[in-house]
Amino acid sequence: MEFHIASSTEEVCGLLAEDPTREILAGGTDFMVEVNFRHKDPSAVIAIDRVPELKQWRHDGDAVSIGSCVTYREIERGPLSTIVPALAQSARTVGSPQIRNVATIGGNLGTASPAGDMIPVLLALDAKVIIRSIDGSREVSIDELITGVKETSLADNEFIEKIRVPILRGPQEFLKVGPRNAMVISIASLAMVTDLERSAIAIALGSVTAAPSKAREAEAYIQDFLDWNVMTVESSALPNFRRLVGEASSPINDHRSSATYRKHAVGVLGQRALLRIFESRDDG
Ligand SMILES: Cc1cc2nc3c(=O)[nH]c(=O)nc-3n(C[C@H](O)[C@H](O)[C@H](O)COP(=O)(O)OP(=O)(O)OC[C@H]3O[C@@H](n4cnc5c(N)ncnc54)[C@H](O)[C@@H]3O)c2cc1C
Repeated sequence: MEFHIASSTEEVCGLLAEDPTREILAGGTDFMVEVNFRHKDPSAVIAIDRVPELKQWRHDGDAVSIGSCVTYREIERGPLSTIVPALAQSARTVGSPQIRNVATIGGNLGTASPAGDMIPVLLALDAKVIIRSIDGSREVSIDELITGVKETSLADNEFIEKIRVPILRGPQEFLKVGPRNAMVISIASLAMVTDLERSAIAIALGSVTAAPSKAREAEAYIQDFLDWNVMTVESSALPNFRRLVGEASSPINDHRSSATYRKHAVGVLGQRALLRIFESRDDG
């Protein structure tokens, strides 16, 4: 197998331009599983995990730019964990410490699994993905990048350079349900982020839709029952809110869970996240 270890983004662009069949390898925690199970048989690989600019993050105006090779270990602790708390909560639920030491945010997007735990958080935060090739850069939203189950809109000569995540003032939550308590792929997950400046709430779902998806009806419905000054929610609105979150999903039956359970679970996660952010108020 042809194996390249890139040392700059320009080198990655050049190697992909020369031969777009070359495959990108970051932490390898998804890639090598595919190779080991013989679902993938790459003839040429470009390792990008030693490219310094891809391993860094920095403040970028009112956002933070996270290089595609930043690992979960870096996201789950230190300054990033206070800047984007839901991303850190999500990173902490991924695999084991050994996995989190090498697995990257760019790899989670590259795999584009409905169960990818970064995806609902980045969608709720309205993050933008910066895609690079020899022709330059382009910027897409999460739902423009991930178009279906393990499908992306990346061209063969393109790779993910970084993810631009808005910094919001307000509580954020990421919750997931799996078949056991740790080291699990999600059965259902949910990210909820608030923006106190705009009195806005965003809710995105994981593992219960083929492509990244928000619970837009639930977002709109609950607004009328929130008091942003004291951060409370009318308790009478909760059953309907839970139902609307569940109805935003279109889950499948598989070896991990039934569709019925997934739909129920994501509604429960929605209510749980809401009550972690807003105190329940009984207006009756
Ligand atoms: C034991 C175990 C537990 C796991 N638990 C979880 C979990 O709880 N939650 C979860 O979401 N995931 C989990 N995963 C999956 C995996 O760790 C994550 O999806 C991880 O983020 C993949 O990142 P990576 O750097 O290892 O990607 P790689 O395996 O290197 O690459 C994955 C795919 O993305 C492509 N790719 C990588 N980087 C780029 C880039 N910059 N531009 C374009 N394409 C790119 C690759 O070509 C490949 O197709 C687990 C995996 C294992 C083995």
